[in-house]
Amino acid sequence: MEKTLSIIKPDAVKKGVIGKIIDRFESNGLRIAALKKVWLSRQNAEAFYAIHKSRPFFKDLVEFMTSAPIVAIVLEGENAVAKNRELMGATNPKEAKSGTIRADFADSIDANAVHGSDSVENARIEIAQLFGSFEIL
Ligand code: ATP
Ligand code: MG
Repeated sequence: MEKTLSIIKPDAVKKGVIGKIIDRFESNGLRIAALKKVWLSRQNAEAFYAIHKSRPFFKDLVEFMTSAPIVAIVLEGENAVAKNRELMGATNPKEAKSGTIRADFADSIDANAVHGSDSVENARIEIAQLFGSFEIL
């Protein structure tokens, strides 16, 4: 079964909407295979977002992702990567369709509530960065 990585970002954790976001996944056929609350170090966040290293927003992104705890989740289900991206909505919450997680819980393109892997290959890499195989059940 396909897996993907979701992160509930610092803004959504601070707002107290962890449960509401997890409900979106479970109500839409995505099973929680692993879940933990962690505070990323600068090194963790830089490694995680290494693909965006040369982008102008990289420094702010790392700053934001290390500003408070996050919740890391492995989701499992049919077409989990695409299904999660659909539930998340567009990166910029102003462009996110109503009823999506970002439309309902995100404040801005920086503080946009959730992360989701963008391919099966990147999901595999991202899951391995945050979870040991013994944690995925
Ligand atoms: P994520 O990877 O977090 O799931 P995404 O795949 O929708 O989001 P990416 O293009 O991978 O978007 O960008 C990673 C993150 O960097 C975004 O979630 C957002 O917080 C931030 N970001 C992307 N584009 C911009 C931008 N133009 N200005 C500021 N921040 C941005
Ligand atoms: Mg992305």
